[in-house]
Amino acid sequence: MPDIIIKQGREKSILRRHPWIFSSAVSEVRGFPSNGETIDVVSSRGKFLARASYNSTSNILGRIWTWDPNEQVDHYFFERRLRLAFDYRRKLGNLISSNAIRLFHGESDGLPGLIVDQYNDGVVVQFLATGVHYWRDSIIEVIKNLTNAKWLYERSDADVRKLEGLPSQSGLIYGKQFENPITIVENGLKFWVDIIKGHKTGFYLDQRDNRLQARQITNNLAVLDCFSYSGGFTVNCLSGKAKNITLVESSNSAIGLARKNISLNGFSMDNVNLVEKDVFNYLRELRDRDEHFDLIILDPPKFAPTISQAERAARGYKDINLLALKILNAGGYLLTFSCSGGVSGNLFQKILAGAALDAGSKALIVERLHQACDHPVALNFPEGAYLKGFLIKKQA
Ligand code: SAH
Repeated sequence: MPDIIIKQGREKSILRRHPWIFSSAVSEVRGFPSNGETIDVVSSRGKFLARASYNSTSNILGRIWTWDPNEQVDHYFFERRLRLAFDYRRKLGNLISSNAIRLFHGESDGLPGLIVDQYNDGVVVQFLATGVHYWRDSIIEVIKNLTNAKWLYERSDADVRKLEGLPSQSGLIYGKQFENPITIVENGLKFWVDIIKGHKTGFYLDQRDNRLQARQITNNLAVLDCFSYSGGFTVNCLSGKAKNITLVESSNSAIGLARKNISLNGFSMDNVNLVEKDVFNYLRELRDRDEHFDLIILDPPKFAPTISQAERAARGYKDINLLALKILNAGGYLLTFSCSGGVSGNLFQKILAGAALDAGSKALIVERLHQACDHPVALNFPEGAYLKGFLIKKQA
């Protein structure tokens, strides 16, 4: 088996079981591995450290499969990892009330770059790193055997594939052609999900608990749902008897789905205002018009995928949170999120503190929020905790 030698002093993160090996930590590659191939990872003194997949294109030269020298990376390896993850979801029981569930969550479930989401009777898969792409056929077979999915659809069209040197790839892998969009039921509410053209694998499953949280606090409030995608928060707030809702989203197709999702659940459009605009500009318009709300939801896309973009992202987060706090009524709630891997929970809290200071608002953290439990975070992979949220109450 080809191997890579780690520079002296750079083995620490591997010993702490972090699954990424950056090219800067590697002193030598021996044996001409091709991308995706399995390699042994060896210390400068020749000691076995781990077994990983190799990729010469990415900054992350190795993604670790196992730290056990006796564990072979073969079809059965993938079967074990996938089975473990699927069993974990099965045992979550009442913690999830939905037929759309993340069955496999990449590094945290032990296979870097693999995402498997169940939508009703079908499954959507993403191969986002070279290693899992290399083992695609085995993984597909295992998914087919372990789930009773009637169809399997691939959405390996995320930007991160480019960093891996992989082409964008999507389409039906097996099964009968399903009706798209499909419908799912989450916490008793129905949603249209566009598997083929929707964001990520079709729906933001990670926000499930937080949408329910919004439902529980929204009674009789005037709500502003920013970056609303297909209306997940809006539909929950309508179910929670919001007084009125303004939804802001820049994508025309997302607004179309939101409208359909509102009517799918039998809610009228009378107290709903769908605004197809840029949130940054629209918040300024609202401030200038002196319009106010009782609950403002900010769920923007990733501003900083990595730490190198954190500073620019911080300015974006501060801007929208400051504006939101200005147009929030005293006593009202701000439900605000960051899904940027490059912005930690602590940094996000500091940004919010700065925004509150500049807005002249006193505010309390009511709750810290995070991704739903079918998106677990392995303790050896803190980057897995990408979704950070705060429920904030503005004081008088
Ligand atoms: N809250 C949603 C998920 C939001 S994802 C849910 O629970 O399902 C972020 C959304 O923000 C995407 O739909 C994207 O189209 C939209 N978006 C991105 N930049 C935007 C901008 N500047 N103004 C308005 N919407 C934007």
